[in-house]
Amino acid sequence: MKRSAIVVGGSIAGLLTANILVRHGWNVKLFERSSKGLEARGAGIAMQRTLRHALELSGVDVSKELGIGINNRIGYYPDGSVVARCEYAQTTTSWGLLYESLLTALPAGIFHKGAMVESVISEPDFTKVRLSTGEVHQASLVIGADGIHSSVRENVAPEIKPTYAGYVAWRGMLEENEFPSELSIDDFSSFSFGFLNNEEAVAYPVAGPGGSIEVGTRRFNMMWYRPAPKNELYDILTGSDGVHYPTGIPPHLIRTDVINNIRKTALLLPPLFARTIPAMKSLFVQPIFDLENENLNFGRVTLVGDAAFVARPHCGAGVSKAAADAVALFEALEAHEDIPEALEKYSSDRVMAGKNAVNWARKLGTYLQCEGDRQSDNGKPVSAEEVVRYTGIELSEISNVLFS
Ligand SMILES: Cc1cc2nc3c(=O)[nH]c(=O)nc-3n(C[C@H](O)[C@H](O)[C@H](O)COP(=O)(O)OP(=O)(O)OC[C@H]3O[C@@H](n4cnc5c(N)ncnc54)[C@H](O)[C@@H]3O)c2cc1C
Repeated sequence: MKRSAIVVGGSIAGLLTANILVRHGWNVKLFERSSKGLEARGAGIAMQRTLRHALELSGVDVSKELGIGINNRIGYYPDGSVVARCEYAQTTTSWGLLYESLLTALPAGIFHKGAMVESVISEPDFTKVRLSTGEVHQASLVIGADGIHSSVRENVAPEIKPTYAGYVAWRGMLEENEFPSELSIDDFSSFSFGFLNNEEAVAYPVAGPGGSIEVGTRRFNMMWYRPAPKNELYDILTGSDGVHYPTGIPPHLIRTDVINNIRKTALLLPPLFARTIPAMKSLFVQPIFDLENENLNFGRVTLVGDAAFVARPHCGAGVSKAAADAVALFEALEAHEDIPEALEKYSSDRVMAGKNAVNWARKLGTYLQCEGDRQSDNGKPVSAEEVVRYTGIELSEISNVLFS
């Protein structure tokens, strides 16, 4: 008899997991609360090797080019002088392209949009989810791929909550044909870093509309990390409608005074960022959180992706970690017929990996933190040069440098 799984959440982690399981003989239902597509909201991401393997298992054609190769890294001080240069071969892509490829790969009838899961009940022999409509669905396994504020996790481990890291990331993109002409092609095509006191901006090229990587159609993707104490965060996340959005503000509701202030402050950054950020048509902001778990085995319920662990974006691993989770879960389920046994194996593998990713990203984030925090919570802060060298490197390479 086919084994059955319910996947909660239809973003990258959910789509990877559903695609892999359905291709390996499982009956799968995926419930996504949003009734619209998510692709328009994604930005650029650095790809790691684990992602390519998971995409292959998911049935995505990885023979075609999925991103843009980058070799050079360069970091700048505010006056444009160079902090550090190095080489690191890497591929970047766009969130939308990955999402679209995974959605297309999923056989019809599995993805149920506009389906909000409210509760999960785990019994010894099966598990059930209840939707907000009152509908109940049953399977042998429920996988929470429902992100940092996971409802599935809230049901099985309500004590686990994200913690605010003390800073936000502003994000934006510029079309390649709008890239300022006084800047060079190297400025566009490198992995660039800009430093300003304890702020850090990062930029790299990503695929353009429809996943195009043709020269002239690509995009320049930017993230700018800025400390924001809780009162300032409250202000940033209070929208033009007067409502406070503690977990993330919809981009169109960010107040004009907040946006104007950020465009003005961008002029203090190194020239590459000072010239590009003010030209970006839309800027959006996300508070940065850490999330850690001690256990991912809840009998017949488990968690993948951001529902399980969230490492700050410095390690460039949100999508790749979700991919590694999906592959590890699949391998554990292949190796163990008994689901709780498989989840025990999955949990023991991925808890350690998740903690390493969170610690690594936290360490890279020490550059951002004020003097007191730097010393007391996180040990010696990383230098700007280390940020340039280690941001977004393969997670498999961090063990040499993690605690050095
Ligand atoms: C729109 C969007 C854009 C993103 N862009 C980038 C990017 O550019 N670069 C990057 O590195 N990372 C990006 N991320 C984050 C990145 O996708 C994640 O780190 C990675 O995909 C793993 O996230 P996830 O799939 O676990 O969770 P998420 O991407 O947060 O997705 C969780 C999904 O679960 C759904 N959901 C939540 N609760 C319920 C419920 N109760 N019932 C049903 N469904 C539910 C949500 O609607 C959402 O689709 C983005 C995420 C989103 C949602």
